[in-house]
Amino acid sequence: MNIGRKTSLAWVETIIRNFWECSPSNDLHLVNGEKAWDEPHVAIAAGDDPLFAHIKMMTGAFYWTPQEAFTLAFPDISVSARELRVISYVLPQTLATRTDQRKETSMPSERWARSRFYGEQFNCELRLHLASILTESGFPAVAPERLPGFDYRQSEQFGLASNWSERHTAFVAGLGTFGLSDGLITRWGKAVRFGSVITRMDLPITTRPYNDDHQAWCLWYAKGSCGACVLRCPTGAITTADGHNKTACHRYIREVTTPYATETYRTGATPCGLCQTRIPCESHIPQELAPNE
Ligand code: SF4
Ligand code: SF4
Repeated sequence: MNIGRKTSLAWVETIIRNFWECSPSNDLHLVNGEKAWDEPHVAIAAGDDPLFAHIKMMTGAFYWTPQEAFTLAFPDISVSARELRVISYVLPQTLATRTDQRKETSMPSERWARSRFYGEQFNCELRLHLASILTESGFPAVAPERLPGFDYRQSEQFGLASNWSERHTAFVAGLGTFGLSDGLITRWGKAVRFGSVITRMDLPITTRPYNDDHQAWCLWYAKGSCGACVLRCPTGAITTADGHNKTACHRYIREVTTPYATETYRTGATPCGLCQTRIPCESHIPQELAPNE
């Protein structure tokens, strides 16, 4: 085995990219066979990054650190947090999906609903595929979101919250910062989804270009301007005073967009995502906030 190749970030990126390129699951199930997602991008967080413990402290004791999630999957492997890496990846929505979604004002477009349903099925397969290839190659790996114990609980501070957050993990890994609507603004915008895998492997850690400023790339938080996502929400669930109202958002999704998508598109997922398009951070960091590189 070529150990050098198999411990490189390039190897991990190739596994992810090949699956994105070749898997029949990366498909919106439209007649033209178009892919569910644009090309993925990868970043790496340290398993002992103090931000993970901070997120747990803010969310609640039920939230997993990377070490806790890894140990659930591999109870017989003794590992320190320092030995672990968290591979976080972003799957951007395609231009066609974003273009369709921009035209909508109260319901998700068909492509958006399909990407949320079929695209997330692909994302689940990608998480498991990556974890399985790494494990088979001698680097035990787990996708926390696919663990049987993955669940949603009531957080005193945040209301309904999962015990592993792909968005928060992506923030720690340097992929993006939070916007007024709670979505993560990445270099490829906010119209994206995330996945992650924890592994015992010595991968190079990605530098966070925003240090620890978790709202650095949102115009509202950085400059007091914009607020475009407020106007995109059909149910008033985003305000400049209070940010994202999860309860109102979930109610709209449960009572309005899910029944609509199920009936109209025959997709069973729970989409809305109007606040992720027709905004300055849809497909990139707002220009005036983009880091100089
Ligand atoms: S639309 Fe504007 S206010 Fe809303 S998250 Fe994006 S940059 Fe921030
Ligand atoms: S997902 Fe829909 S309901 Fe929820 S905040 Fe965004 S636009 Fe509003």
